[in-house]
Amino acid sequence: MTATDIPRVVLAAPTVRAVLAHAARDLPDECCGLLIGSREFDTTATPPGPVLVGVRVETSVPARNLRRSPTRYLIDPADHFAAIRAARAQGRDVVGAYHSHPTDPPDPSATDHRDASGTQFLYLIVSPVTGAVKAFRPSDGRLSPLPVCVEPDPTRPGSQWRYGWSRRCRRLASA
Ligand SMILES: [Zn+2]
Repeated sequence: MTATDIPRVVLAAPTVRAVLAHAARDLPDECCGLLIGSREFDTTATPPGPVLVGVRVETSVPARNLRRSPTRYLIDPADHFAAIRAARAQGRDVVGAYHSHPTDPPDPSATDHRDASGTQFLYLIVSPVTGAVKAFRPSDGRLSPLPVCVEPDPTRPGSQWRYGWSRRCRRLASA
């Protein structure tokens, strides 16, 4: 795999704020929810066909954590289906899921690695303590990190691209 095979993740700033607010609200337990947006494919790629080159997250939908635990989460399937319906109504997809690590850094736990599925599904992990946001996707039986950038917030003059992947993210965001 080369660097160009790694999909880029663009997050809308209000969505990052909403996810972090949810994480803070559900302390001391983990929060979880779904991510709605769109995927960008390179359809010119030679076999095995269209390659995922980017994921754009526009909104998030909170879900119930059926585990109600500070170290585990399980998205209520009813909330997952509701998110799918909401996404379709907007002409969008559920592109991934998010959860929080109330005390640990936002890196995948052994359980996160084990439970992950779907190579095009995005796993976002956030820390309500530091405000850090990281993205991963399943690859070879574990979660691999993806570059993330946060789009400037149009409602906040002077807000900047964050996380340093600005050139690529700018191109993706305008696509
Ligand atoms: Zn986790």
